Amino acid sequence: MRIVLRKVTKTPLDFEVISDEITFKGFLEYHNAKLILLKASINGTLQKSCDICAQDFYLEVNENIEFFINDGIFEDDGSVELDVVESLDGNVDIQELLNSEIELIRSDYHSCDNCKN
Ligand SMILES: [Zn+2]
Repeated sequence: MRIVLRKVTKTPLDFEVISDEITFKGFLEYHNAKLILLKASINGTLQKSCDICAQDFYLEVNENIEFFINDGIFEDDGSVELDVVESLDGNVDIQELLNSEIELIRSDYHSCDNCKN
């Protein structure tokens, strides 16, 4: 799902992408200058191997994310309070964003229930 950034207005543009057991749902909204706000939640379960015993298990994912996407190269003057992701082609690919968020979650340290107890 690709969205053209300059078509995003002050009216929130909803999106929802589902990948395996994960639902990525939220909206894009024009902020100012070339900044677009992205606010979304990631919910579902993710299969991952335990960082202690290496057994596969299902990790419950419930995360809220919020950041800006800049249409072009972002010049940071220190006034922006959130993380900024640059888009160099004027588009945002929601599926790709979800994939990188999933990779981030996967790369965190997680142990299965057996190892937690
Ligand atoms: Zn384990």
